[in-house]
Amino acid sequence: MSTTLSIPTVFVCTSITTFIVALALSYLWLTDKREKAIGWWCASMWAATIGTMMLATRAALPHWFSVGLGNPVTVLAFGFSWAGYVAFAGGRPSKPVVLTAAMAWLVLYFGVDSFRDGVNNRIIFISLVFAIFGVLVVHCAWRGWRSEHLPSYLATMIFYGLHSLLYLVRIPMTLIYPVTESNGMVSAPWLASFALEGFTLTIFSTFVFMALVKERAERRYRLAAEIDSLTSVSSRRHFVSETRTALARQPKSAFLALLDLDFFKKINDTYGHMAGDRALQGFAHYVSSKLQPNMAFGRLGGEEFGLFLPDRNETAAVDFLENLRAGVEALEIRFNGNVLKVTTSIGVASVDETGCDFDNLMAGADNALYLAKEQGRNRVCLFSSVMRLEKILEEGQESRLSLAENRISRIAVRSRPGRA
Ligand code: GH3
Ligand code: MG
Ligand code: MG
Repeated sequence: MSTTLSIPTVFVCTSITTFIVALALSYLWLTDKREKAIGWWCASMWAATIGTMMLATRAALPHWFSVGLGNPVTVLAFGFSWAGYVAFAGGRPSKPVVLTAAMAWLVLYFGVDSFRDGVNNRIIFISLVFAIFGVLVVHCAWRGWRSEHLPSYLATMIFYGLHSLLYLVRIPMTLIYPVTESNGMVSAPWLASFALEGFTLTIFSTFVFMALVKERAERRYRLAAEIDSLTSVSSRRHFVSETRTALARQPKSAFLALLDLDFFKKINDTYGHMAGDRALQGFAHYVSSKLQPNMAFGRLGGEEFGLFLPDRNETAAVDFLENLRAGVEALEIRFNGNVLKVTTSIGVASVDETGCDFDNLMAGADNALYLAKEQGRNRVCLFSSVMRLEKILEEGQESRLSLAENRISRIAVRSRPGRA
């Protein structure tokens, strides 16, 4: 039993599929026009619907209509699809790139007899155009991937890369196994497979268009939760989670520093809240620019920041923080013609002293920060074993005190009138 794949049938199937997708994308586009790419991809699916339907009618309708006009409309679909990728990556699609191939087809088909009557010439032209658009899409997806790691960019590169390769291979195949055309119908053993590839590409593109839009939305939500909107450094939640994860690996040496801007309220009071915001941005930007690999930095709230420094000894950590402090002191943050000056007090604790528990490390850094403020600000203070002892004693005194209070209140309860 032999099975034959009818090319017009594949075109009809492709056309029905693209029609459904075009409807869905039109709905998306009409409800939210913010993502320009959807508009282009929508146009691409409408062009593909019309183009493939025209191609499917080649046995029934005049050649100039089905082949002469159906092909450039299909070529336009590829142009629009590429334009969608450009728009999605934030660029402006070039109209000549979108239109040139379709125009060239029209000129060749209606102006050059050997092109209109030579099916193999037409196939070579279309193969070249499809392969070039495929390469353009891969290039665009690659640029997009570099700025935004969306998994569907990778899928696009692989699929469109293979698509281009396939259409490039179609050129020598056309020369080796030429296609014959009679009564408007073409035949070659390999031709139907390419019609099927077009069908697959339609379904794949639909999936990828939707996935890219969804992945971008998810990425934006994630970034919104992970990034502090004022300073663009890590949010408290993200910083704490990153530091906890690093501490869970039980590093032998790691430091947590708390950086609190000194007399920050004065900046707000003197120059206004906007100046305060600008100072926070300038400070965060400066510290971010000085970060070394594997350090984590985030805004804990207000004018307090956290810095996690793993895998370095005490001298290296304290030297780094001391340089940072001096750098902040020298910083000149400009705002409305004023130069804002800030200094920072830094409290730092080491896992050597507190262990790898995040809360203990944080409490140690907080104690050291308190001391830095008490000693006059604009300095780095390291949580030491002496402070730890003091803390233990303090906690001991507090617990003795609360024990005594407890006993007194019990006595009071026992001695309350009316009780035995
Ligand atoms: P100290 O040296 O003791 O830390 O003094 P300080 O003035 O820096 O500390 P205090 O806690 O008294 O004041 C912190 C100020 O930071 C109060 C608050 O208005 C300001 N602040 C907190 N978050 C923001 C913000 O997002 N923008 C601006 N402009 N100011 C903020
Ligand atoms: Mg402060
Ligand atoms: Mg503070």
